Amino acid sequence: MLVGGGGTLLDSPQTTTNSSAFSWPGRVAWLSPIKLNSMSTFVLQIQDLDEAGRDWNFAIRTDWLANALADAELKAGTEDGRFTVHAQRSALDVLVQGHIEAKVAATCARCLNDVPIDVDLALTALYSPEHMRPQNSDEIDVLLDEVNRDYYGGSEVVLDPMVRELLLLEAPMKPLCSESCEGIAVPEHLRPPEEVFGGSVPDPRFAPLLKLKEALTKNEE
Ligand SMILES: [Zn+2]
Repeated sequence: MLVGGGGTLLDSPQTTTNSSAFSWPGRVAWLSPIKLNSMSTFVLQIQDLDEAGRDWNFAIRTDWLANALADAELKAGTEDGRFTVHAQRSALDVLVQGHIEAKVAATCARCLNDVPIDVDLALTALYSPEHMRPQNSDEIDVLLDEVNRDYYGGSEVVLDPMVRELLLLEAPMKPLCSESCEGIAVPEHLRPPEEVFGGSVPDPRFAPLLKLKEALTKNEE
């Protein structure tokens, strides 16, 4: 299902209005525009959930990371990550507690080399049915160490957008491969001559010119 297009799920023929409080509109709740071209990976089926809760163990594959981070300042590392989830359902709400471990990389602001980042963070989110989404709140701010809210449509809770948003929060403002990074080394032939930076001794290569100048000045007298 749903390969190469994000809109397919929206085209469900049942775009009926809420017929009862218990109808789940057939719409997927994206947190924000997201470019996950492949189908969602971290999906909980509502039917699998109960009050006692259940556990899931997902791999966060490097190709998922590459896709999710395509427009971000981060990129995928070279190893798969792990996403463990405990989810329980209370009436229509689904409480998700998860733990994300992944290796990503930022780009050093000085030398442009990769700066590896070990992501290790907790996720707590409460998912409610899409029809309970407040008006004019299409986008949700995702915060670390808070209970985040999102909405689910149909019979699935899709966690991909939340995972992505949390990963994006890990991007440092100014990534550095090390505090002492000196940036890209300037090749010898592109370096300005020393005297540009305050050396007052004239370059010996200019000596013939200086002699010529002296001679010319004398002639003028
Ligand atoms: Zn650097």
